[in-house]
Amino acid sequence: MRSVVIVGGGIIGLFTAYYLSEEGFEVTILDKGDLSNSCSIGNAGMIVPSHIVPLASPGIITKGLKWMFSSTSPFYIHPRLDLRLAQWCLLFYKAATKKHVAYSIPYLKNLSLLSKCLYMQLAEQHASVDLGLEEKGLLMLYKSEEAGHEEVEFAHLARQHGLEAEVLSPEGVRKLEPYADMDVLGGVFFPGDAHLNPAKLNAFLVQHLKSKGVKFVTNAKVLDFAFSGRAVKAVVTDKGDYAGDYVVVAAGSWSGEVARKLKISMPMLGGKGYSFLADNTPAIQRPAILTEARVAVTPFGNKVRFGGTMEITDDSDSINLNRVKGIHDSISKYYGGFSCDFPEKKEVWSGLRPCSPDGLPYIGFTERWSNVLFGTGHSMMGISLAPATGKLLTEVLMNRKASVLMDAFSPDRYN
Ligand SMILES: Cc1cc2nc3c(=O)[nH]c(=O)nc-3n(C[C@H](O)[C@H](O)[C@H](O)COP(=O)(O)OP(=O)(O)OC[C@H]3O[C@@H](n4cnc5c(N)ncnc54)[C@H](O)[C@@H]3O)c2cc1C
Repeated sequence: MRSVVIVGGGIIGLFTAYYLSEEGFEVTILDKGDLSNSCSIGNAGMIVPSHIVPLASPGIITKGLKWMFSSTSPFYIHPRLDLRLAQWCLLFYKAATKKHVAYSIPYLKNLSLLSKCLYMQLAEQHASVDLGLEEKGLLMLYKSEEAGHEEVEFAHLARQHGLEAEVLSPEGVRKLEPYADMDVLGGVFFPGDAHLNPAKLNAFLVQHLKSKGVKFVTNAKVLDFAFSGRAVKAVVTDKGDYAGDYVVVAAGSWSGEVARKLKISMPMLGGKGYSFLADNTPAIQRPAILTEARVAVTPFGNKVRFGGTMEITDDSDSINLNRVKGIHDSISKYYGGFSCDFPEKKEVWSGLRPCSPDGLPYIGFTERWSNVLFGTGHSMMGISLAPATGKLLTEVLMNRKASVLMDAFSPDRYN
């Protein structure tokens, strides 16, 4: 039986283990934490085939510069003297072109559609498990002419690529969201999107994988690797060494750090976001993005989660309540009939999105080593894309034709 050691037990590591163990691989997952608080737990849980445009896109630079000067804005880069930050920003700037967007769209779309399909299969195969999976679509809500123009243009683009998108008047929005006294100029509805409860998904996968014999080693930080010729012989942790035929690096925003130990340059920064839960009364019916505020809204039964901000930082722990205030302030601007208390600091969750500078994930073998693969860099779409990434890595390891084209996702593209 061939064995695989996976670095990282977030959603990418878990889904990779899921498909590998289905094919009979012996899998060990190593994680520096206890799996209770990865970025994959408290996020908005959206499955969004509609998101076909990478973060690095024209317009984001001007918007980003404007946002940089407000303490409650949705985007912020911690200014610091750091060569890696400067390199990442330069690569991001270079990638934010129309040409890059046009190049990326088919890759992201196919990956996303594959993932949605795999989620539906997962739900069918484990019908008795409650993952909170619902196909209620996604509302992109806007209050200004400028945002409306962008969203409608984006709806046309999505349609050109074969996705369903409905442009809605304020009345159209109120029909879909009748109980929250919507105060918007309009919206775009993507009926093909879905959402689930990410904490339930993570818990299910861990329990299922354990029952299938996947070994979990928690609180074991990967420090280095032992090499033999062109192969990695063992993964060195502070709890001992772990050998396998293959190594998959799925270490989220820390993957760049792990890659350096493998002598690979993989630009990656953490994009910190916050979320909190509130009682869902009156009931918000559907997931939404409040586009000007860049806030994600996801109903989970009698609760609703609000999440947002993108602070480019390495600091995973601190909570900046000003950013949380930015999220909180935006809610009643769109949902006139909804109010909730400002959360206490201990009620605010934060996570670091693994952000590559070109907004595309890193998936597949690296040429540097004969037995090392990466599955990381999913930025704002880690939940959305995780099953597809796990499936692709398994196909590659099985020497099968990959379900979708992967060349844009090469882990070696910055080497
Ligand atoms: C506010 C917010 C809302 C979001 N909403 C959505 C959404 O609606 N839909 C969506 O698709 N995505 C969303 N995301 C993004 C999504 O959460 C991430 O893309 C995804 O969780 C990343 O998963 P991952 O497995 O790559 O990384 P992680 O979940 O960060 O897991 C990486 C794991 O690797 C471990 N690790 C790191 N370094 C080491 C080491 N040296 N040794 C051992 N272990 C190590 C870590 O402990 C961690 O457990 C959101 C993110 C935020 C912050």
